[in-house]
Amino acid sequence: MSDEIRDVMIIGSGPAGYTAAIYLGRAGYRPLVIAGALTPGGQLVNTTEVENFPGFPDGIMGPDLMDAMRAQAEKFGAELVYDDVVSVDFGDGTDPSDSSAVKSVTVDGGETYRARAVVITTGSSYRKLGVPGEAEFSGRGVSYCATCDGFFFRGKPIVVVGGGDSAFEEAQFLSRFGSSVTLVHRRDEFRASKIMVDRARENEKISFVTNAVVESVNGGDDGATSVTLRDVVTGETRELPAEGVFVAIGHTPSTGFLGDSVKLDEDGYIVVDGASTRTSVPGVFAAGDVVDRVYRQAISAAGMGCRAALDAQSYLTQE
Ligand code: NAP
Repeated sequence: MSDEIRDVMIIGSGPAGYTAAIYLGRAGYRPLVIAGALTPGGQLVNTTEVENFPGFPDGIMGPDLMDAMRAQAEKFGAELVYDDVVSVDFGDGTDPSDSSAVKSVTVDGGETYRARAVVITTGSSYRKLGVPGEAEFSGRGVSYCATCDGFFFRGKPIVVVGGGDSAFEEAQFLSRFGSSVTLVHRRDEFRASKIMVDRARENEKISFVTNAVVESVNGGDDGATSVTLRDVVTGETRELPAEGVFVAIGHTPSTGFLGDSVKLDEDGYIVVDGASTRTSVPGVFAAGDVVDRVYRQAISAAGMGCRAALDAQSYLTQE
């Protein structure tokens, strides 16, 4: 463990984390950002074009946006560590100048970092279907990221599961590759925005199966070959050819590493105090998709990251 006790650490490197880092860096705190090992930059790194982030009238590619945010954070003194936090000890003090209020976090590589304040911005990860064959064919047909894996299914039948914006975005993207793209949704109404639904309806490669759930992913040694669908109205089941099965059914918050150190709600989201970003532990703040199950946008996460930085500053400067 390093002897150094920093002012503030940020866990996570999506729009919320980098925005908090930019604000805290500009305030002179030299924040440590524990950016994650697998996907530093968060979900936008696996996205194609982002059309709704203000300031980019022609859109910007997700990875480029995150690169720019990282560069801006580093410019103002943020230091990045590319590792995953595996455990935390947030102490029990309330006075930031007191040693009992020092917070430590340990990363997968074994190092422990300490700081007087922590901002948690770990976002969320892909929700799983939990059906037979999903895990077995993961990486051999089942995927959670069209931009990562779409290329492998050139000329093959593809199924996308979900009825939200992600499912429609993935279906649109995958129509460039697949011989066909069938979007399977458990209801007959879509949660996705009208513009995304209209675009998909105009795309002749995309068809829809509604009121249906995937009961299993089937296949053999060479990977997935089909899904079994159950009609939720009639109860009938049928098999649909699918060599690519893209699951886009939302996310679960990435809070497993927190144990019972801060208060979480019944779905695992971090609970914050009213409109602030204060968690149940003094000096620990949270922002972005790890808190927000409603808005879940890059811009709303960035805004909340800004608020967390300001809340952390006011904690660090309290008398
Ligand atoms: P979402 O809006 O929560 O949609 C999840 C979809 O998956 C819903 O249609 C849901 O069905 C379905 N679902 C959930 N659990 C399921 C299960 N176990 N089996 C079958 N289906 C299941 O998630 P999202 O599409 O990932 O979007 C998340 C947020 O990001 C949203 O705010 C969205 O607007 C935003 N987003 C924006 C863009 C964009 O603007 N370009 C792109 C992607 C995402 P029900 O509808 O029946 O609940």
